[in-house]
Amino acid sequence: MIKLVNQLRDYFDPPQSGPVTYDYYVRTGQCNQCGQCCSGIYLIHGEDVIESIEKFDKLKDRHEDYQHFVPIEETDVGVRFRCRHLQPDNSCGIYEDRPLFCKKYPSEATLLFGGSLAPKCGFAFKAKHKFTEILEKAAEKRKLHPGKLLNDVMPEAQPADPDRIAG
Ligand code: SF4
Ligand code: SF4
Repeated sequence: MIKLVNQLRDYFDPPQSGPVTYDYYVRTGQCNQCGQCCSGIYLIHGEDVIESIEKFDKLKDRHEDYQHFVPIEETDVGVRFRCRHLQPDNSCGIYEDRPLFCKKYPSEATLLFGGSLAPKCGFAFKAKHKFTEILEKAAEKRKLHPGKLLNDVMPEAQPADPDRIAG
């Protein structure tokens, strides 16, 4: 029971120093208040990065937490934001009441969504498993024989479709 409570706390409000264990990574280190993650943020809505200021303007009326952020620019990745609560000394002006995703940051989701830590971030992630172990676990879950994984899941080759756009 205590373990479950600790796991929930680690997920929703992880300690700001000391190791935190996620599904695939262990987080170590601590925040050094460099302020980078509060001044060049990409926001993920659902499963996608918010890609335009027009979309953000529509979303922010329905999602209170988005009111904290000011768009800086649109890039190839999406909209970059700055938080209006970041103080000149890089502290958070609403620390106790900061949004949930700030409390959880950085989590392994940052990496799983293709992101990375800011260059001066005081946190670090270490993978818990080798990639081959993850494949084996996935195969086990799906009751596939690891040695036959590719043969089992690969569809048979189809004739080339001239209208398909390469991706
Ligand atoms: S609310 Fe605080 S922790 Fe969250 S982005 Fe703004 S300054 Fe950073
Ligand atoms: S980038 Fe890392 S060290 Fe810098 S403020 Fe954010 S969490 Fe803290």
